[in-house]
Amino acid sequence: MATQTGLPLFVLGSGADPHSEKGVECPGELPPASDPGLVERARKAKEALGDRLFVLGHHYQRDEVIQFADVTGDSFKLAQQAAARPEAEYIVFCGVHFMAESADILTGDAQKVVLPDLAAGCSMADMATFDQVEECWDALEDAGLAGQVIPVTYMNSSADIKAFCGRNRGAVCTSSNARRALDWAFEQGGKVLFLPDQHLGRNTAVLEMGMSLDDCVVWNPHRPGGGLTREQLERARMILWRGHCSVHGRFTAESVDDVRARIPGVNVLVHPECRHEVVLKADHVGSTEHIIRTLEAAPAGSSWAIGTELNLVKRLARTFPDKNVSFLDRTVCYCSTMNRIDLPHLVWALESLVTREDGAPGGAVVNQITVDDDTAHWARVALDRMLALP
Ligand code: SF4
Repeated sequence: MATQTGLPLFVLGSGADPHSEKGVECPGELPPASDPGLVERARKAKEALGDRLFVLGHHYQRDEVIQFADVTGDSFKLAQQAAARPEAEYIVFCGVHFMAESADILTGDAQKVVLPDLAAGCSMADMATFDQVEECWDALEDAGLAGQVIPVTYMNSSADIKAFCGRNRGAVCTSSNARRALDWAFEQGGKVLFLPDQHLGRNTAVLEMGMSLDDCVVWNPHRPGGGLTREQLERARMILWRGHCSVHGRFTAESVDDVRARIPGVNVLVHPECRHEVVLKADHVGSTEHIIRTLEAAPAGSSWAIGTELNLVKRLARTFPDKNVSFLDRTVCYCSTMNRIDLPHLVWALESLVTREDGAPGGAVVNQITVDDDTAHWARVALDRMLALP
């Protein structure tokens, strides 16, 4: 069955879609979540694998999983860390699908990247499929504009989209270097097609680069011609893809007003994936790593309302008990796909690597994430352009 987005619908546990970030099949027997020995089982499996294993944990992961991470970080830092461990045979990525793809692109051919639950996708990455982006590019070519457009994609996109940017003179960016990536892109062409997060694109263009909201248009992949006229495309400097993060997109301007009324003197610190009006009202804006560094440097006794994923905010509150750390919104806001990596899936993935039915050394690699050579090559081109930014 096709949805309005063109992505098939699956009942949980019944299949997988290789063309999207969504995958929902667990091919093995998961240990029950109620097993009191799960922590010990994970510890033993890690010990048995030793240096052959490297476990990466994204900041938005559950505590039950993050305790087994050899390194924690945002998506780019983790991909770099994976690349810096050529001796690790297995990279178990506790994060979401596009991150595991980036790790596969940046690691050697002999290294295997495992995502403990294939259902751990990213709704934002799913909002820009390869076919949709090709359609947009065809429309820009028909309008005679593609020659002046540089595509820039946020790290939170599929390998296909990164490769599209690599093939078309474009680059990847993170929330930390979006400004530098856009400066570079505008030196190459007069316009940017920014994928897939409209908020990061708009916030960077308007708040950091001095553009106006009128310089930005939004390409809606579900409407003919993106829902834009040729004149709108000709006038625009930033063509923003109509994608967003379903977690950060939940914060509203009212969330900021409400927390200021509840906590006098509070500092509001938000991620640039938040809506423009939320970022405008905040005191500080920055990437996940920036949020952590800001909290580290904050004086004891100061109050902070943080607009990012809840697992991280709760961890920050525990890490800095001398500071008053709250969640920006009143409603609970986990990333549901990040949360799919739980201890049973991690134990299953690790134990599968340790044991093999025939008793031979080596492991059964479950849920391996691989990117085909051509896609990996062009995605790497786009990633390398980002790494070469001044
Ligand atoms: S927090 Fe948002 S951008 Fe990050 S993985 Fe979840 S849906 Fe995707």
